[in-house]
Amino acid sequence: MKVRYPLATLVLAFPAAAAAQNLGPWPQHALDRPQPPVVMPAPADKPAAPPADAVVLFDGTDLSQWENDSGAAPGWKLGPGYVEVAPGAGDIRTKRPFGDCQLHVEWAAPMPPSGESQERGNSGVYLMGKYEIQVLDSYQNKTYPDGQAAAVYGQYPPLVNASRPPGDWQTYDIVFHGPRFDASRKLLRPARVIVFHNGVLVQDDVVLSGPTANKRRPPYEAHADKLPLLLQNHGNPVRYRNVWIRELAEQSP
Ligand code: MG
Repeated sequence: MKVRYPLATLVLAFPAAAAAQNLGPWPQHALDRPQPPVVMPAPADKPAAPPADAVVLFDGTDLSQWENDSGAAPGWKLGPGYVEVAPGAGDIRTKRPFGDCQLHVEWAAPMPPSGESQERGNSGVYLMGKYEIQVLDSYQNKTYPDGQAAAVYGQYPPLVNASRPPGDWQTYDIVFHGPRFDASRKLLRPARVIVFHNGVLVQDDVVLSGPTANKRRPPYEAHADKLPLLLQNHGNPVRYRNVWIRELAEQSP
């Protein structure tokens, strides 16, 4: 006779299949957590044109899709084909809210580099304004692995360090599924993210523990299915160009 196991038993029996990357035994921001191996990506290239159905958020010339923390025009500096974080001018966020998405962002850390660890080329891509994919100059710049470039900040180091040198343009290609909450504000499912850094897989569909925070991992708090995308001002003159997004429809099982 064939033994049938309920689906829940199978899921419990093979938890590792869903957790190639996990939060592990290391405390948050542990410096002795293993450093991701360095993988040299392909050299930087000209920005690739967005696909036809993408919403272009920044084409290198105009910030009309963005606002600052108080809803006014962003104070970041426009240069030829890029925008640069202006220290003191706050974060910038999209006027439109987004939820589940495919997002393409290009950024460059300041050249020459200055500062060490978290103070070198720090910025960040905050999905829904809450979940940070770290931007940092991680080229020959050691920091805690869950805070280096392409980390889910404070949660998951990247699988490898695919950083290009400072001054070179780098790409993030992100697939994000936001969390869902029920009417009583209970978490129905956590957020998940896939990230390619310079074309190299660095986050393999990881499950976020909650919103991003420094020195803590706070639980989820119910929020809307769509919220503005935010770029972080950490006081370092990081540059951005060619930012586009494709909204993803809910997939039925
Ligand atoms: Mg940051």
